[in-house]
This record gives sequence, structure tokens and C-alpha cells, in this order.
Amino acid sequence: MTTSIACDVLVVGGGNAAMAAALSARDHGASVIVVERAPRFYRGGNSRHTRDFRIMHTRTTEHMLDVYPPEEFLDDLRRVAGGEMDEELARLVVERSEGLPMWLSQQGVRWQEPLSGTLHLARTNLFMLGGGRAMMNAYYRTAEKKGIQIWYEAMVEDIEVTAGVFGGAQIRRGGEVCLVRASAVVFAAGGYEANIDWLRQHWGDAADNFVIRGTRYNQGNVIDLLLAAGATPIGHPRAFHAVAVDGRAPKFDGGIVTRLDSVPFGIVINLDCERFYDEGEDFWPKRYAIWGGLIARQQEQVAYSIIDSKVIDKFMPSVFPPMMAHSIADLAMQLGLDADRVQATVDAYNAAVQPGNFRPDALDDCHTVGIDPPKSHWAQRIDTPPFYAYPLRAGITFTYRGVRIQRDARVQLVGGDAMGNVFAAGEMVAGNVLRRGYLAGFGLTMGAVFGRIAGEGAARVAR
Ligand SMILES: Cc1cc2nc3c(=O)[nH]c(=O)nc-3n(C[C@H](O)[C@H](O)[C@H](O)COP(=O)(O)OP(=O)(O)OC[C@H]3O[C@@H](n4cnc5c(N)ncnc54)[C@H](O)[C@@H]3O)c2cc1C
Repeated sequence: MTTSIACDVLVVGGGNAAMAAALSARDHGASVIVVERAPRFYRGGNSRHTRDFRIMHTRTTEHMLDVYPPEEFLDDLRRVAGGEMDEELARLVVERSEGLPMWLSQQGVRWQEPLSGTLHLARTNLFMLGGGRAMMNAYYRTAEKKGIQIWYEAMVEDIEVTAGVFGGAQIRRGGEVCLVRASAVVFAAGGYEANIDWLRQHWGDAADNFVIRGTRYNQGNVIDLLLAAGATPIGHPRAFHAVAVDGRAPKFDGGIVTRLDSVPFGIVINLDCERFYDEGEDFWPKRYAIWGGLIARQQEQVAYSIIDSKVIDKFMPSVFPPMMAHSIADLAMQLGLDADRVQATVDAYNAAVQPGNFRPDALDDCHTVGIDPPKSHWAQRIDTPPFYAYPLRAGITFTYRGVRIQRDARVQLVGGDAMGNVFAAGEMVAGNVLRRGYLAGFGLTMGAVFGRIAGEGAARVAR
């Protein structure tokens, strides 16, 4: 028999956007149930893997250096989006980001001193003490204290929406099915990033070789349910954010430590032992997010980063030790590649390197001449043993496909009207703000801003 329960606001998902929505709804007087598909240990979705928010600030703070004015933040977004940005929604997120540190502190989140590191973010981004897991623990602790009900291993399987109005959701929980009736609902259940079958529909068999950096529970089924209920889709199904990860990373949940930052300091070759992109095109923080897509387009979705001992200490240490050899030929054999062809590629690259002043922290003048693709910066000869290599795979961070929302976070129907009591936030609506490109820390910022708007809106509807 199906049991039935009622609340003011149902929140679907258990990451940053969902918890921001749940806490806001509760603070605005609503009774709230949070439905998290993952077990308690894995609660928090991809938010569990994060480290930092991107925050606008007009004065130096204890935890962020200097200032990051709104216009600079918006310019950074425009640059990465290449024109595919919603100006109004982006401005809303930027302006509301300023209030997030205080609000998150009130939820128990603690911050870290500004850090140096490969992504140079100490001015623009605010880092959580203890990372995403500590942040999620703080969110859940506060939610429990405020009387929010949390259901783990509870998956939304179906929803009742009639003429754009939500009535209830069917939830599978520990082998039982329960119907939750709510006056309003907030969906914040991530994207399709862990759904290999769905990725295969859009990327073909290549999808089988993708590594999923985050949770296995974000399968996109809630997006499908909303689209079936008449929501307007947003974001291209093939679009994703993906980085170069160590090829030895686990299939799911490898998190931040499997990302490899060695690329700009050497060369990257594919299974044909050939270079395929300018490894030194721009600063790594501006380029790291294109390498997942580049590798996804190579044969068998694999590539190899090759460096020498001059640069082994110039990037964040890797979690898996690199392969090491005293000659390029030996290194190639360890990688299972044709030694002569790898040697020929390294020789051609070395011959093209021009004399220059190597400066890892600047767009230096070390470049190649006469090879295709060129290497524009940080090009040094690979000539000092031992030589090192890392196998690389495409590590999928998130997908862009989702549902369209309006400024108040209500889901928009195909005809243009908003659904009366249906709100959405987080990764499943990220394509509303940026349809391509990404700025480090912006995922959490968007999620918390729209989560808070959605939670407050849902509580008002429920009253
Ligand atoms: C390794 C890694 C590092 C990252 N680092 C950063 C960073 O430092 N800063 C940053 O801004 N962004 C970062 N990101 C991106 C960031 O994780 C996302 O932008 C953000 O966490 C999305 O939050 P969300 O709440 O929308 O989704 P999530 O946090 O992924 O939460 C989705 C939730 O929905 C649940 N769920 C899914 N389907 C259902 C269902 N049917 N029923 C019930 N529940 C369901 C899941 O279990 C999960 O709890 C990183 C991502 C990864 C993978």
C-alpha cells in the first residue's frame, strides 16, 4: 500500500542548492521535507566534492584578498560564455553573491585563509574550511536543528503536475513507495552527468570511457519528469564541463584530487602519438576546462601528458604517481605506445622550441615555431631525465541540459508561463545563466543564490 504524507515545501535533492532552498523555506515559515537519493554517507551530491564559491566583494575581507567588483565578475562571465549568457540572471547571481558568505556562516559553514595554488583564486573565490563535505555537514546539522525532515535513500520516481501545478511526488524509499503532497516543490537534483546511457545517446560509445568526477546519483531523471510535465528545456544535450583527469581515477566520485594540472608544462599526445592542441594556449585556470572535451574527441578517449624533471614540481602534486623512465622510448613502452613515434613527436617538438625566459606564473615568451599545433607559452625542451607521463581521461563535472526558470526560480512551461508552485535551482538550471563556458566557483554560487530564491518563493506560495 502506498503511504501518503503532506508538507508545505518538498525539496528534491541533497546538495548545495537543495539545502539552501530547504533552509530558506524553513526560515520563511514552511514545514519542509528534503528527499535525498543517496545514502547518508554519500549525501550532498557533487557539492560534497567542492572547495570554493566565487564571490563579488568591494572590500578586502578576512578570507578573500583585495576586491572583486561586480563589473569585473560579469566581464569574466561574458568572456567564458562567449555571448551565450543571460545578462539579467547573471547580474542577479553576481549581486546576490555578496551576501552569501554571511548567510552561509549563519548556517555553520566555516572559511579558510586565502590560498595560493594552480588556479590563482585567492582574490575572487572563498574557500570552505574542510571543503564541500564540511559545508554539507554544516547544512545538514543546521537543517536538523531547524526541524527539517531529511529522507535518505529516497528517490523521486514520478511527479503529479496538472496544468502546470504540482500536486505531489512519488518517492521510492527503502523498497516502499510513498506519496508526498506539498503546496510547493523545489527541484535541485543535479544534471545527467552520472547517467552513462544518457551520455551515450549524445556522445556515442565514447561515453563508456568517460570518468564521472562526482556522485553516481545524478541521473537526470527529475529533469526528464519536468520536461514530460511541460517544462521548457535549456542547454544543449552534448554540452558538458569536463577536465583532464588521471586515467587511473575511479569511474565515479574520484573528486578533485584526480584532476591533473601537468598539461601546460609539457606536451599531450594521443594514441597516434601525436600532439593535438596547444598545451600552453593561455593560463591554466582559463584552459583546464577545455581539456576534458579535447580528450573526449580523441580515439578511445585517452591521452598522455609527458613532461621532464625540470617541471615535475611546478603543478599540484598528483594523487597517483606518474610513470617514470630515463628515456622517452622506455616511457613510451610503459604507456603501451610506439616508442619510435613518441620519440619522433618529442624530437619535432624539441626542435621547434625557441629560446625564452620560462615563467610559470606569467604568459611567458617560451613558444614553438614551425609545428602544428603550436605551443604558445611555457614551451621548454623535454630533455632532462627522468621523464614522466600521466594517462589522461575526460572527467565529466556536470552537464548543461536542464529546465528553463524565470527570475524568481519558477520553472517555465513551453508556452512561456511559469509553473505556479514548481521551483528549480542548482546544476539542473545552470544553463539558464551560462549556456557554455564556466568560471571556477560559479556552480556553488549559482546554486546557493537560486536555492535561496526558490526556497523563499516556495514558502510564500505555501502560505
Ligand atoms: C570534483 C568536483 C569539484 C567541484 N568543485 C567545485 C567548486 O569548488 N566550486 C564550485 O562552485 N563548483 C564545483 N563543482 C561543481 C559543483 O559541484 C556543482 O556546481 C554543484 O555542486 C551543484 O549543486 P547542486 O545542488 O545543483 O547538485 P548536487 O550537489 O550534485 O546535488 C544533487 C542532489 O540530487 C540528488 N538526486 C539526484 N536525483 C534525485 C532523485 N531522483 N530524487 C532525489 N534526489 C536526487 C543527489 O543525490 C544529490 O544529493 C565541482 C564538481 C565536481 C564534480
